[in-house]
Amino acid sequence: MNNKPLIQLTSLTKTFTTEAGVISAIKNVNLTINAGDYLSIAGPSGCGKSTLMSILGLLDTSSEGQYLLNGHKVHELDVYQRAEIRNKEIGFVFQAFNLIGDLTVLENVALPLTYRKMKKQDRIEIAMNSLAKVNMADRAKFYPAQLSGGQQQRVAVARSLVVDPSILLADEPTGNLDSKNANAIMDLFDELNEEGRTICMVTHDSRFAKRSSSIVHLDDGILC
Ligand code: ADP
Ligand code: MG
Repeated sequence: MNNKPLIQLTSLTKTFTTEAGVISAIKNVNLTINAGDYLSIAGPSGCGKSTLMSILGLLDTSSEGQYLLNGHKVHELDVYQRAEIRNKEIGFVFQAFNLIGDLTVLENVALPLTYRKMKKQDRIEIAMNSLAKVNMADRAKFYPAQLSGGQQQRVAVARSLVVDPSILLADEPTGNLDSKNANAIMDLFDELNEEGRTICMVTHDSRFAKRSSSIVHLDDGILC
């Protein structure tokens, strides 16, 4: 495992201004994730886990503080630069899989590659390799609705890995799965981390959190 810092958050804060007032979702968070780490973020509902993951995944921006990702000063980037870095550096897996129903499994997995200047045949080959990695190559021509939840999440993991991202971020990846399928996804994460993939996961389940190499807790927006 190499110890190069991949992610460094410094005094990161996120506030939401709503009609009901200002909500401090993330308060002064400092966090380092090194290449090769497998980190779990735990904490009760509403403590800010998804907000933090969205910021880490460049799906949302912080209000204050610094975010360094693989040498990029994310907090200084504009929306276009962030989209470009996100496509290169981030693989994101959601609780609800978020596959596109009108696209086949293969088309879903190949989608992140359409932003690259790449021949269609090359995109298909890379997407098929990613599907093979999660044991779903035989379902390439299926549509998401024809798959079980566990299979859909495997496809979502294949899609997240297709660009060979610096980090795999997963927000409650087993939250919509029964225990057998949840275990299979966690076995897959173990394998990916053993192969050197950096992972940061939010989970409610302490059994799954214990499988990662370190656990941090969020409590009302404060990391401890
Ligand atoms: P968790 O994922 O730990 O359940 P969230 O990060 O979703 O928690 O939410 C943290 C807090 O921020 C909650 O109080 C939530 O209501 C608030 N929040 C999250 N997203 C928004 C938003 N877009 N607008 C206003 N408040 C939000
Ligand atoms: Mg959440």
